[in-house]
Amino acid sequence: MIFLLFGPPGAGKGTQSAKLVKEKGMVHVSTGDLFRNAIKNETELGKKAKSLMDAGNLVPDDITIALVEETLKDLQGKDVILDGFPRTTVQAEGLEKILEKMDRKLEQALFIDVDENKLLQRLTGRRVCSNCGASYHVEFHPTKAEGVCDLCGGDVKQRKDDTEAAIKTRLQTYKENTLPLIDYYKTKGIYSAISGEGSTDEVYGRILQQLSVE
Ligand code: AMP
Repeated sequence: MIFLLFGPPGAGKGTQSAKLVKEKGMVHVSTGDLFRNAIKNETELGKKAKSLMDAGNLVPDDITIALVEETLKDLQGKDVILDGFPRTTVQAEGLEKILEKMDRKLEQALFIDVDENKLLQRLTGRRVCSNCGASYHVEFHPTKAEGVCDLCGGDVKQRKDDTEAAIKTRLQTYKENTLPLIDYYKTKGIYSAISGEGSTDEVYGRILQQLSVE
């Protein structure tokens, strides 16, 4: 099965994907994580993506589609969660072509809906482990020792694009580029939506139900 988790920044896509990986053995493909790794490893791709990402803008479609194609090629036969890709209609069309070549298809596009005020609260308070990627929140889910990851002891920091200016740009970019995907996937007959509000476990339960995963 290949399915898409999409929604605004801060909807909880990364958190829910991590749970699906841990509990259901699915593979998580997050273009945001792939770009962050490229930046960390100072690759050519990382150099191209860094300033765009830090400001909250999208990386160009052609670069992003090529990266996903490269990644999916190695995941034939696996259950895959796509998180943060596609983010534009051009990327959605690109994904269809990639999957066609692999003789696979996207089964569900699941939208996680969260009120904008809650998103702002989540994003401004979010802190992420720079080593293992675990996600925290200064108020709702703080680390036990300040700035130290509970899981691996890595440095826990604010993402560069979780500043107020970048968040504003990301939300605007999301509305202009990603929201049209709702209609796109409705037309394809694979769209569904759940509320992303409540506890992590509550949202997770809704996802499993929607995907008909035991
Ligand atoms: P995320 O971790 O999904 O919030 O993504 C962080 C940033 O990575 C985004 O704000 C974009 O700059 C970049 N990015 C992630 N996924 C995509 C995508 N599908 N298309 C273009 N840029 C992306």
